[in-house]
Amino acid sequence: MKKLIAMLLALMLVMSGIAVFTACDNNTDEPAETTEANKNETPTTEAPTTEEQTTEAPAPQVLKMATNAYFQPYEFYQDGKIVGIDAEIAAAIAAKLGMTLEIVDMEFDSIITAVNEGSVDFGMAGMTVTPDRQKEVDFSVSYANGVQTIIVKNDSPITCVDDLFAEGAAYKVGVQLGTTGDIYATGDFGSENVTTYSNGNEAVLALLGGSVDCVIIDNEPAKALVAANEGLKTLETAYANEDYAICVKKGNAELLAKIDQAIKELTADGTIDAIVDKYIK
Ligand code: GLN
Repeated sequence: MKKLIAMLLALMLVMSGIAVFTACDNNTDEPAETTEANKNETPTTEAPTTEEQTTEAPAPQVLKMATNAYFQPYEFYQDGKIVGIDAEIAAAIAAKLGMTLEIVDMEFDSIITAVNEGSVDFGMAGMTVTPDRQKEVDFSVSYANGVQTIIVKNDSPITCVDDLFAEGAAYKVGVQLGTTGDIYATGDFGSENVTTYSNGNEAVLALLGGSVDCVIIDNEPAKALVAANEGLKTLETAYANEDYAICVKKGNAELLAKIDQAIKELTADGTIDAIVDKYIK
């Protein structure tokens, strides 16, 4: 009898083992449902909670930034890589969020669309906060100030901003498409007097070639353009003063709060100042 009970027990154990094995087997082998919809989904790698934490660290999530990399010293190419004040501040923000930064270069006037379509997480391009842009995207706290400056040829009759507004003046102005320089100049002088270019360098080439009488652009890129091209200077007087900030998709309060917090910390610990000092002497 004892033998029979022992045998029965052994049989039960074996069967339960099979049951457990079958359950595990089901779990691992069952293929994940692959529908057309989830095939195209970007895999999300959420940070594991402490309970779930395994020894294998998850790959850091990518934080995608849209910029226009022809805006020295904020973003420009060096040895095939996009560098500059914005690129470095963005990398420091991504590091604070435990993410890897990826920079996507595009036309300046495509950045807000890209942010709103969600093909990138944020835009950072020496972008000025304006009331119109605030209707389309949300802006972080400001991390820098900008000044709209006027570039002219050394022998230009334009000697100060007021000359552009003088009675009977009809100077041709070159700007970068979609920038505040473009918006303000079109408002002040009419679109018939403003020619748009896809970046500051093209606008400066048009100035050197005589198609426009001046270029209105942010002061730091203006300095870089004047340094790189003979026979040009910037006027002493500013055309406009502005604040630069990062933009996110309207309503993305979660990312905006993280970016704001990171900017505040990076300002407080001197990181942003050190980055600016590296590029602006
Ligand atoms: N600060 C200007 C703007 O926001 C120019 C920015 C740029 O050309 N990258 O319109």
